[in-house]
Amino acid sequence: MAQGDIEDPTDYGSIVRNNLMKRPGYAPYCAGSYEKCGLPRLHWDGEQFACGCGYRTEFPADFIDKYKERWHRPADQSQPQTQGERR
Ligand SMILES: [Zn+2]
Repeated sequence: MAQGDIEDPTDYGSIVRNNLMKRPGYAPYCAGSYEKCGLPRLHWDGEQFACGCGYRTEFPADFIDKYKERWHRPADQSQPQTQGERR
């Protein structure tokens, strides 16, 4: 648990999944090729997390459903230009 995490005692099966469900705005790192992209954090594309190098996560649909239900996340509108970011 880190500060800002929501309180949820559920174990979702891995550290990354727990972070996704409990840490607002969390995104996992790319697990593709360091030479291609430098392994940045992935961006949410509305169904999975993806990287410009072509890497995309493969979380099962039931987990993604829970994730979307918790955060009500549509696809990222790239970087918000106005209204300030909520971090
Ligand atoms: Zn990548």
